[in-house]
Amino acid sequence: MCKTHVLSVSAAKAPFEKATIERRQLRPDDVSIDIKFSGICHSDIHSAHGDWAGGIFPMVPGHEIAGIVKAVGEKVTKFAVGDRVGVGCYVDSCGECEYCLQGEEQHCSKGFVATYNSLDYEGNPTYGGYSQNIVVTERFVVHIPDRMELDAASPLLCAGITTYSPLKRWKAGPGKKVAILGMGGLGHVAIQFAHAMGAEVTVLSRAKGKENEALGFGADHYFSTLDPEIFTMLAGRFDLILNTVSAPIDVDAYLSLLRVDGTLINVGAPAEPSQYNVFSLIMSRRSIAGSLVGGLLETQEMLDYAAAHGIKPQIEVIRADQVDEAYERILRSDVRYRFVIDISTL
Ligand code: NAP
Ligand code: ZN
Repeated sequence: MCKTHVLSVSAAKAPFEKATIERRQLRPDDVSIDIKFSGICHSDIHSAHGDWAGGIFPMVPGHEIAGIVKAVGEKVTKFAVGDRVGVGCYVDSCGECEYCLQGEEQHCSKGFVATYNSLDYEGNPTYGGYSQNIVVTERFVVHIPDRMELDAASPLLCAGITTYSPLKRWKAGPGKKVAILGMGGLGHVAIQFAHAMGAEVTVLSRAKGKENEALGFGADHYFSTLDPEIFTMLAGRFDLILNTVSAPIDVDAYLSLLRVDGTLINVGAPAEPSQYNVFSLIMSRRSIAGSLVGGLLETQEMLDYAAAHGIKPQIEVIRADQVDEAYERILRSDVRYRFVIDISTL
């Protein structure tokens, strides 16, 4: 067992405090990682604030982990001490079910073990990346490409794969009109991926002041969702809308912006249920879909794709004692575009 310093919350909406936890003894196929940077995903806020059911407290959030391998178990083959590595949203899966065998560990039939706020298969709580060290089975660790800085790479471990995976699956590419709804942590990375894939990209954001940055990330068009006129102007326009908004949206209004056969893909995960009128689907054979992060091979593929295409999260690096304030700012959408904790300040 190895003691490690963490930032933890004792109950829903409690402030962060420094604490220590024990990481498990290295197993033969384990990698021990000294965490350098940990991104703050809005899912961390949903979890730490108890928005979603089943929060396990005390909680150490963090599933956008970038660090350096400190030690490896004797059977580890993919990693060596000193490697630059990442860990995303989950740290175990059964490895045997049809979904694991297809590389879709996030849909493991036994239920994947989330990086934090979860119980491992022995029943122990998992603690995430707001921490100096983590021990993870090598199968759930990925390589961070050499040309990527560790701090900017960390958000890709969740925001990157969560947007890359559905954009690829629903074939964002040349000739496709793709709208990215919400320009936060996920949204600003989604713009870059959709642009690199060759789609015509439109950003739909409440903010008036983000247009130049959206165009800089590769967007072709930008509209404020606070302007009701856009729902007439853009009716029937898009093949895909990737919804990254952390709060409920007016589903019918956004469905009306889709072409025949268009799809509204939800990755934003508010706790509250949404409603829609079936005629919004029926009349133009539209679909509503959802997507959950992505598989491990696809996560590595996404990192390599991002490195090859110069895709890079725009981050604000913060100290460990600024996390409460960062959560407040994210809730006000006052972040451009991802906070990343410098773990050396913990
Ligand atoms: P974020 O940085 O806070 O971005 C969310 C964006 O949504 C905001 O920047 C804002 O964009 C828009 N928004 C927020 N509140 C809104 C409101 N009340 N009405 C309309 N728009 C609003 O969050 P994130 O880290 O990108 O995460 C976004 C969501 O995805 C969260 O719910 C998170 O839990 C979820 N998520 C899901 C997965 C998955 O696997 N499916 C993975 C990671 C995260 P504008 O200011 O541009 O309008
Ligand atoms: Zn996340």
